[in-house]
Amino acid sequence: MVEEIPVKKQQNTEIRAEDFRITEEPFYLPAGNEAVLFQAAYDARLPVMLKGPTGCGKTRFVQHMSFRLGRPLITVACHEDLFVSDLVGRYILKNDETVWRDGPLTTAVRMGAICYFDEIVEARKDTTVVIHPLTDDRRTLYIDKKGEVIPAHPDFLLVISYNPGYQSVLKDMKQSTRQRFTALTFDYPAAEHEITIICKEAGVDQETADRLVRLGTRIRNIREHGLTEGASTRLLIYAARLIRQGVAGADACRAAICQPLTDDEGLQETLDDLVKDLF
Ligand code: ADP
Repeated sequence: MVEEIPVKKQQNTEIRAEDFRITEEPFYLPAGNEAVLFQAAYDARLPVMLKGPTGCGKTRFVQHMSFRLGRPLITVACHEDLFVSDLVGRYILKNDETVWRDGPLTTAVRMGAICYFDEIVEARKDTTVVIHPLTDDRRTLYIDKKGEVIPAHPDFLLVISYNPGYQSVLKDMKQSTRQRFTALTFDYPAAEHEITIICKEAGVDQETADRLVRLGTRIRNIREHGLTEGASTRLLIYAARLIRQGVAGADACRAAICQPLTDDEGLQETLDDLVKDLF
């Protein structure tokens, strides 16, 4: 006879909201009224979609708002092998017992955290569907394996990020999902803002930051000629950090900006010309 393993439906008492709380204010330079809009969406408990290219400040904004709202932040980096059980949880074997372990989404729903799905279109379509009942009036999470419906904590908020630049049939978000969110649009910061951000994040002088921003702007302008995405603020900051470490400007730009952007040799030459012009 097969011995039955006792099932103990216990919660993860070891997971504490404090572990997900942001204790120091993350630096965020606003582009417009995004903080006001986010605050209003939060007050109305409306789910939020952050649209914009990679590396332009979406994640930093969510961190900043989580701090301002005093809510813990649970981030899920989406990828194509992300299964429903990775989000809601699964039964695991622990000391000869089968115990339930909440996934990050369930944890956020129970504790009233802000749950941030980074790059939602990367996730499998069937995985995305579990968030649907959380995004409308129901505000519930259904755990199939336990047959349990969990009402979301009153402070819970769902936030997703989405890069419209990657648009293809496979990577586009379904209308049935996207029409469940209020949307805030992000883009690369305006030049003078980006200079301030680079100076602050990388500790370089104004002149260096200014050159990097000019390079970034020029690269963004050649986007149509084969580059799928422009140079992100993140990459400009990386180049600035290399320069801060003593790397020569042109080498820093090649390593942190040009090479990560493309493998195309023709484009590399074009980018190199832009770098030589400025460094
Ligand atoms: P995304 O989530 O859009 O891919 P991030 O939020 O990770 O991008 O942004 C990349 C980096 O750019 C951040 O770590 C931060 O250093 C910087 N950054 C971009 N925009 C801002 C901003 N408005 N204020 C402060 N830092 C910013």
